[in-house]
Amino acid sequence: MTGLAEKVLALGVAALAQLPQPHEVQASQASADPDSIHVLVNRQNPLQPVDYSPDDLVEVEVRTSAEEPVLLRMEAAESAEELFETAAEEGVTLAATSGYRSFDAQSELYSARYAEHGLEPTDEFAARPGYSEHQTGLALDVISIDNPECILGECFHETPEYEWLETSAQDFGFVIRYPEGAEDITGFAFEPWHLRYVGTETAAEVTEYELTLEEYWRQPAAPEYDSAEPNLR
Ligand SMILES: [Zn+2]
Repeated sequence: MTGLAEKVLALGVAALAQLPQPHEVQASQASADPDSIHVLVNRQNPLQPVDYSPDDLVEVEVRTSAEEPVLLRMEAAESAEELFETAAEEGVTLAATSGYRSFDAQSELYSARYAEHGLEPTDEFAARPGYSEHQTGLALDVISIDNPECILGECFHETPEYEWLETSAQDFGFVIRYPEGAEDITGFAFEPWHLRYVGTETAAEVTEYELTLEEYWRQPAAPEYDSAEPNLR
């Protein structure tokens, strides 16, 4: 090795040593444990076991637009209740429309669509059973009561409710899980209404750096499923 090459190499190593290490800047790492609030679920990471169900589900005591009670894991439910309460105090009226969905419920939802529309439109519309964040009990879909035309529609992002969530959801441990323009990473188009609970420390960092969970946890992008066909029962 020439003297110059050695110098360049030494410089490179010095520069690398100055970079912050992941554990120093991050509040959390991705988990494969379905009971962790940091479990990563996407098209490359199904829940394990695939029919996982949390054992601490409780009803979220907030205004809902659902016929059935909206359930979340206890920690996420308590935080969601605080979020809704604070939003209301600040003049923002949210309602919950969907929380925990079991493997069987997701199967039903997916299968009905699949039978009618086939694979591709169904994959765009809903996660395959075992691949939905709603099955973790940590994901919550919300709506704006005053803007019923935007229920589970992209125009939700133009409502005052979304504007409030964009700046405040992280204070309650939630992130906007499927941000605009990140479909190639998350596998989902913009879903301004879909909140994911990760705890306040992680939510603060993810929001501050404007990252997806895949990026924040330094995990591969998950635009596609590995298997051609869904695992339906
Ligand atoms: Zn959702």
